[in-house]
Amino acid sequence: MNTRQVVVIPGDDAAPEAMAPVVSLIGSLVPEIDWQYPLVGEAAIEATGHALPDDTKTLIDSSETTLFGSTSGKSGAALFYLRWGKQTYANVRPTRWFPGYKSSLADPEGVDFIIVRENLEDLYLGIEGDVPELAELGLKSRTSRRPLAEFDGRYALKVITDEGSRRVITKAFELARTRRGKLTATSKYNMLSYTDGLFRDVAIDVARDFPDVEFEMFIVDDFANRLCKRPQDFDVVVMPNLYGDILSDAAAGLVGGLGMAASGCYGDDYAYFESAHGTAPDIAGQHVINPTATLLSACMMLDYMGMNEVSTRIHGAIAEVYAEGRVLTPDQGGNASTTDLCDAILARCQTR
Ligand code: ATP
Repeated sequence: MNTRQVVVIPGDDAAPEAMAPVVSLIGSLVPEIDWQYPLVGEAAIEATGHALPDDTKTLIDSSETTLFGSTSGKSGAALFYLRWGKQTYANVRPTRWFPGYKSSLADPEGVDFIIVRENLEDLYLGIEGDVPELAELGLKSRTSRRPLAEFDGRYALKVITDEGSRRVITKAFELARTRRGKLTATSKYNMLSYTDGLFRDVAIDVARDFPDVEFEMFIVDDFANRLCKRPQDFDVVVMPNLYGDILSDAAAGLVGGLGMAASGCYGDDYAYFESAHGTAPDIAGQHVINPTATLLSACMMLDYMGMNEVSTRIHGAIAEVYAEGRVLTPDQGGNASTTDLCDAILARCQTR
């Protein structure tokens, strides 16, 4: 049997409680996956003095992909390596309603869209400081009449590049082409005309290469309003990092919450997969975290690995279990444990 190497980083707080039964479920269906658990975070510091030892990096580099549990910071060094080290610039976050998901909408039928969030730039460069530093640079506000030196406040730097925008927008158009053929781009290009305006201009430019894809654009606040009112109108939506982070969580709320929020982060040479939710520290240790987001992220991983048939089987099993509504975790109004739900989904997979 040819093995396929996948790195698993279970994450922090409640995240490992979702990861363990998901890995076990996938392992039952795809025995050829060789799951590798490198040292990260506190365990790595204790053993080697480093949060991300060289051996861990080597293992990630030699693996096909990584399945990552959410981090509260303890596994953060691994996340930075997977994201910025591996240049995984497109964070793909699907929002799809299945009957049985506890949606906040009166009619969630047909909600099926994907937010593609730029994953490396924008405000997430982590450059912050004190506002008077900007006055020293001779910078002036375009809007405020107060001199910058008078602001006893802090700033964060927002960086949007042509290259960073172009590659993620291109990825989003390519994705739209494989789906219903519609791409929506959004940013705050009226107020932030130089940075978000660049994102808009690049989107218009890239759209010329995809005449077969319907293209539309909204200012992000207008988009947020449309998202709440008619999410069925959207297919693939591309946006800068911060808007994507926030609006994809809001999107998850439309179909049943963070427990369903899958995601994959794709670069040109590597991809890793993690649920879009955080570590759910408030329910850690209770074994009730909804594993659907982690499982759907693992399905995206299987698709990436060319195992689409298994992924389709799992999707079908998830749909059946939710439609039946007997085995649900507390966030969906049930009283099943994380493992109960995975067991029910696995049982359905085995009959398909
Ligand atoms: P982060 O800043 O990393 O997003 P956070 O603590 O702000 O972390 P989450 O960890 O996503 O946000 O949790 C927000 C709320 O949603 C918490 O009440 C948490 O229990 C709940 N939650 C998140 N994921 C799940 C899940 N998979 N199943 C059940 N509840 C979840």
